[in-house]
Amino acid sequence: MSEAIYRRILLKLSGEALMGEGSFGIDPDVIARVAGDIKELVASGIQIGLVIGGGNIFRGEGLAKAGIDRVSGDHMGMLATVMNALAMQDALVKIGVPARTMSAIPMEQVCDTYVRRQAVEHLDRGEVVLFAAGTGNPFFTTDSAASLRAIEINADLMIKATKVDGVYSADPVKEPSAVFYPRISYDRALADGLKVMDATAIVLCRDNEMPLRIMNINTPGALMRLVKGEAIGSLVES
Ligand code: UDP
Repeated sequence: MSEAIYRRILLKLSGEALMGEGSFGIDPDVIARVAGDIKELVASGIQIGLVIGGGNIFRGEGLAKAGIDRVSGDHMGMLATVMNALAMQDALVKIGVPARTMSAIPMEQVCDTYVRRQAVEHLDRGEVVLFAAGTGNPFFTTDSAASLRAIEINADLMIKATKVDGVYSADPVKEPSAVFYPRISYDRALADGLKVMDATAIVLCRDNEMPLRIMNINTPGALMRLVKGEAIGSLVES
């Protein structure tokens, strides 16, 4: 079943995508379902780098509002991404998918440290590589980490899997007349302030010509259809 049109992709999942119907933490059923989708992709011969956010546990910005120092809060947020990565690594390994977490912040008893050359070697061997701890720096997001890693590993495509179907002119939940964009340029997304990703992440993709797909992670089979070339969600490109 090697009909995939991509050789290597970077998949970004928000932490919230792992919450399911809950309001905090990880829903094991959701993790298991997403792991199953990833297994299918791996079986079709695609190399997968994975970045998972931490917003289902902690975000530095939210913690700062609650009185915690912003840098400490961001460190907590990055640690949250490591927890999510370990949960996903576990779910993947359990169903027979080789997976390896590589953290931007060294924690050698817990997982590997991110080294680009080693990450590429693991990908070439067919392991799913989970890039954890974001960029390793405060004041960044895991969207920016995903753009960065996608570029570093020479991914053919970056996919941001969210809870919405793609890019809209406004929040479709609050604004029923919001227009859906099947395709939009980086510059337009930036100029219109659309909630695709944060500006740093979009600019990184734009300046390095990394195409980006925004899609709904809850649409069954959508990931597989996407990597076979179907126009799922929205494409952001030059
Ligand atoms: N974070 C950070 N540097 C990074 C990536 C993440 O400081 O390079 C922190 C930041 O506090 C962020 C939190 O980790 O809010 C969780 O990441 P993010 O908000 O991107 O998660 P998502 O919204 O994708 O679940």
